[in-house]
Amino acid sequence: MSVKEIFDTMDYGPAPESAKEALAWLEARGGIAGPFVNGAWGELRADMESRNPATGERLAGLTKCTADEVAAAVKAARKAQPAWEKLGGHGRAKVLYAIARGMQKQSRLLAVMESLDNGKPIRESRDIDVPLAIRHFYHHAGAAQLFESEMPGRAPHGVCGQIIPWNFPLLMLAWKIAPALAAGNTVVLKPAEYTSLSAMVFAEICQEAGVPPGVINLVTGDGETGAALVAAKVDKIAFTGSTEVGRKIREATAGRGIPLTLELGGKSPYIVFDDADIDSAIEGLVDAIWFNQGQVCCAGSRLLVHEAIADDFHERLKRRMDGLRIGDPLDKCIDVGAVVDPVQLSAIKEMVEGNTAGETYHAACPLPSTGAFYPPTLITGLAPSDRLMQEEIFGPVLVSTTFRTPAEAVELADNTRYGLAATLWTENVNLALDLAPKLAAGVIWVNATNLFDAAAPFGGIRESGFGREGGPEGMRAYTKPAKLAAAPKAPVAYEGDGAPAGGIDRTAKLYIGGKQARPDGGYSKAVHGPKGALLGHASLANRKDVRNAVEAMNAAKGWGKTTGHLRAQILYYLAENLSARAEEFAARIDALQGGHKGAAEVEASIRRLFTYGAWADRYDGRAAGVPIRGVALAMKAPTGNIAALAPAATPLLGALSLIAPAMAMGSRVTLVASEAFPLAATDFYQVLETSDVPAGVVNILTGSHAELAPALASHMDVDALWSFSEPGLAAGIERASAGNLKRTWIGARDFSGPDGEGEDFLEAATEVKTIWIPYGEG
Ligand code: NAD
Repeated sequence: MSVKEIFDTMDYGPAPESAKEALAWLEARGGIAGPFVNGAWGELRADMESRNPATGERLAGLTKCTADEVAAAVKAARKAQPAWEKLGGHGRAKVLYAIARGMQKQSRLLAVMESLDNGKPIRESRDIDVPLAIRHFYHHAGAAQLFESEMPGRAPHGVCGQIIPWNFPLLMLAWKIAPALAAGNTVVLKPAEYTSLSAMVFAEICQEAGVPPGVINLVTGDGETGAALVAAKVDKIAFTGSTEVGRKIREATAGRGIPLTLELGGKSPYIVFDDADIDSAIEGLVDAIWFNQGQVCCAGSRLLVHEAIADDFHERLKRRMDGLRIGDPLDKCIDVGAVVDPVQLSAIKEMVEGNTAGETYHAACPLPSTGAFYPPTLITGLAPSDRLMQEEIFGPVLVSTTFRTPAEAVELADNTRYGLAATLWTENVNLALDLAPKLAAGVIWVNATNLFDAAAPFGGIRESGFGREGGPEGMRAYTKPAKLAAAPKAPVAYEGDGAPAGGIDRTAKLYIGGKQARPDGGYSKAVHGPKGALLGHASLANRKDVRNAVEAMNAAKGWGKTTGHLRAQILYYLAENLSARAEEFAARIDALQGGHKGAAEVEASIRRLFTYGAWADRYDGRAAGVPIRGVALAMKAPTGNIAALAPAATPLLGALSLIAPAMAMGSRVTLVASEAFPLAATDFYQVLETSDVPAGVVNILTGSHAELAPALASHMDVDALWSFSEPGLAAGIERASAGNLKRTWIGARDFSGPDGEGEDFLEAATEVKTIWIPYGEG
């Protein structure tokens, strides 16, 4: 036999990791996974079961926690929270550090348990899931240590309800628990029904690490248990899972005044240009779509390949696919394991077999005869609108299409309702850095893929949800302002008839696309002074006017590409022009509300414009300290189209406190003026018109908040809605926002004090976009 023949016939021998210890661990605990509450196991019942997807064998029974059991867990967390917070940053850091150390000691047990339960290759659970989960606790031990100095004025929410999916059971648990604890919250976490076993090992590690009882509580079960946790008396909900369930949770929490973060699905593009290092791009793609059998929220599941190299690229990819080894997840030589459950396998089959478009290629690698295995699959020649180009398959299936120009690549990439991640392969650094900010995604990888780290924020935009996990951005989501001054009550507006106050009675129009516009409905409402003098009329905007304002914001997208310096200049110019008319504005405010506070409000408004002029070129991103040769840039990108309902009180200052941060950060804004005192904001049109504000960047509507709020909240092109109006509007706004999962902020602030400006506003006006750029030749 020649050396070549030997080489050609050589194959990997099996190198299985033993399941013995993990199975013995389960047996020693009665073979049931169940609630862990107040530092001890609750009632363990085998209501459901957990199976090994690679063999179909039963691994353990699983308790489906009832609403009462969930309530008991929340109660334990509530009781433990004050002492945990009072322990202080250093005290909490020591506990988080002890958890990290404990996980390190049990790392092999955790990895084997994860692979048995989820079906992922041991190579991945051992080298990726478990080390990243441990790193998360180490990093957040640091976040706890520095909490008081790095997050002054911030406090924990209290008890956090956390719900996680099955694709990265331990890692998602770490992403949720570590920052929550670091900030002084206590938690009740629900693992996914298919994969609760590594969480059980984790619970024991917590006992040994000295986590005080009640600080970490686990409730096992399915969607019903999850829904019970959402309905329980928690102070925050953090969810990772499907967009469909995320939407339900948005609706279920509407109007409850609890913050929500949603990390949802994706259909992330993987873009390969003709100048890319093709071998590396192919290896990256293997990682992008066949890592964890493609069951990755940010999987590069949509290949966009430059037309000129498409045929060659697909051929090389198919060859590489044929070489993938699929089989026993505990075998260290395996590339692709089992999908999580036969139910998921059927869902993948249904989607692929139901597709008639394009050409389907299944890798020629042998499949095990039993278990939930699906071959690596490539579907080429799809049109952008085909179902499989749009919907998340959540399996080892890659879909592909081609593009000709960079502009077309961006257009195709963004042609999705999701916005989680994107990958770019090109040797042209100019092209990569030009395109990265243009792609609608929360995470961008340049010449790399699936890089994660505790120090770098991760999360999506659009229907991939809102909120970030990792780094200080992720920590902030587990905190709130420690103390807020009460929002002032607005004076009661005069209702009834009244004689004109003198001068010419005029009807203030709407301000849309840089022009004063009559309201579509043709209605207006009289505005009186406190004693009944008729001051003028304000237009009553309707749905059509909302549509026009949103179209105007869409047409002003270029604002997001302007420099901070230019935006600062325009904000200062607005302040200058307002200052020139200060007396007139002060008189108007006094006429509307009575009293003599107008001058102070105008002065505060001028200051506020200056504040955001100052922030416009100063609210920077940062380079996250990730452990690779390269950088992860956590950039601030504009949120996009923001709708804002102004408070009734301080009608000028309230309006400008919402308009200015949006403008400063490159977002566009449609403001609905104070319903009771709209004329202070409508007078501002003339200042806008004389201050070089491009058309559509600021639009102002007047009218009924109750009528306009649902129209804005349900508009698919509004990216965020802030309401500082009546608290009673919150439920309707949050429920309607579930349509496109826009960010909502229901606030009440004293705009005349320090709570009326600053980081909360800047954060709401921006999205964090993390751009990973590894460097070096080696
Ligand atoms: P899923 O939404 O079906 O379930 C997620 C969790 O929610 C599970 O624990 C489940 O029991 C629970 N749940 C189900 N119905 C519920 C309800 N009505 N109320 C409360 N909880 C409920 O998702 P999945 O199938 O487990 O996971 C796959 C999805 O997760 C994919 O869409 C994937 O993209 C997404 N995901 C996103 C991220 C991210 O960071 N963006 C990370 C991992 C997974």
